[in-house]
Amino acid sequence: MSDEKSLETRAVHAGEPRRQAHDALTTPVALTSTYTFADTDALERHHRREVERDEYGRYGNPTVRAAERKLADLDGAEDSALFASGMAAITTALLAMLRGGHHVVLTRDCYRRTRQFVTAVLPRYGVESTVVEPGDPGAVARAIVPGKTRVVLSESPTNPYLRVVDLAAMRALKAAHPGVKFLIDSTFATPVNQRPLEHGVDLVIHSATKYLGGHNDLLAGAISGSAALVDAIRDFRGVMGGVLDPHAAYLLLRGMKTLGLRVARQNASGLALARALESDPRVERVFYPGLESHPDFAVASAQMSGFGGVVSFLVRGDGARTRRFIDACRLATIAPSLGGVETLIEQPALMSYYDLSGEERLAVGIPDNLVRLAVGIESAADILDDLAQALDAAFSDP
Ligand SMILES: *Cc1c(COP(=O)(O)O)cnc(C)c1O
Repeated sequence: MSDEKSLETRAVHAGEPRRQAHDALTTPVALTSTYTFADTDALERHHRREVERDEYGRYGNPTVRAAERKLADLDGAEDSALFASGMAAITTALLAMLRGGHHVVLTRDCYRRTRQFVTAVLPRYGVESTVVEPGDPGAVARAIVPGKTRVVLSESPTNPYLRVVDLAAMRALKAAHPGVKFLIDSTFATPVNQRPLEHGVDLVIHSATKYLGGHNDLLAGAISGSAALVDAIRDFRGVMGGVLDPHAAYLLLRGMKTLGLRVARQNASGLALARALESDPRVERVFYPGLESHPDFAVASAQMSGFGGVVSFLVRGDGARTRRFIDACRLATIAPSLGGVETLIEQPALMSYYDLSGEERLAVGIPDNLVRLAVGIESAADILDDLAQALDAAFSDP
């Protein structure tokens, strides 16, 4: 679909043929593990790539392909590849791009399993890494080891502090280090709020489980970038095997059609709730890139068109009071994940970081009174009422 159309329009139509099998309006779910050949000549024409068709389910599926084309269009990418989960996308992409002796630069505030893979799994294969603070392009530059560093990987915005990477600064660094590929996990932003490829980034990663799917009913991951890079990683996906199921691909296609609507609402509610929480004396500090108080407010305002639906904050008090606050929420539901239509809330100390000691948690920057709110598409007023009554409960004498 042409670039002149708005994202909202492309989200509905891009990637899906206008005419479908059986004259269906929507893209059929192709539940097949393998594909047939009329004769051996047809098989040879396929091997010579004279026809575009599928061969076996681990290498491709038409429903998955439609979802890949839609996402590529939204990301402004030549191509996209989908995976069984965000982690399958991240691990497959990194393993495809790295070998023993290479080095990775990773920003510290990030999804815990990504950090685990880079700092604890990759070293087993001889890949070293340096972890730097996000929001500090100088630290990234100093961490690059010429000749060894092949990948710089960062989320933007990051999890859970919503730090924003200065993509213009990354572009300058990339020009100085042509052998290094810059990867941005753009899960929190979605193509609605930011398109890192337009800033010269090599590869965009999404956990499509979050906003792209949007309904908390599927797991999927994606990469978007140049045709050559995506093709190489898609090839390696055939080796690693972390492919997306066609049913999940259909749900993802359907979810992406409303991405523009949902994220617009989540941007508006996120900002309204962040402002309300910041003015509440029972809240010690709010982390949201759309607030002037956020360290990356200027960078975020320059390169993003919305600030997303995740708001992190510190409840004034200890872990026990924070727990009372979370337990008193009636609308916001305790669960990991984000980006769906339902508002979810969690205390990272009791969720992703539960198995660390209090000291270890502080060392990775996760205090016990930290809350991550993942705003859904309910009315912002109702979410705010819920948070206010939960704060009342947490601050009343037990
Ligand atoms: C959830 C998430 C992941 C992992 O994705 P899964 O789909 O759960 O495997 C990676 N990065 C970020 C930023 C995430 O939020």
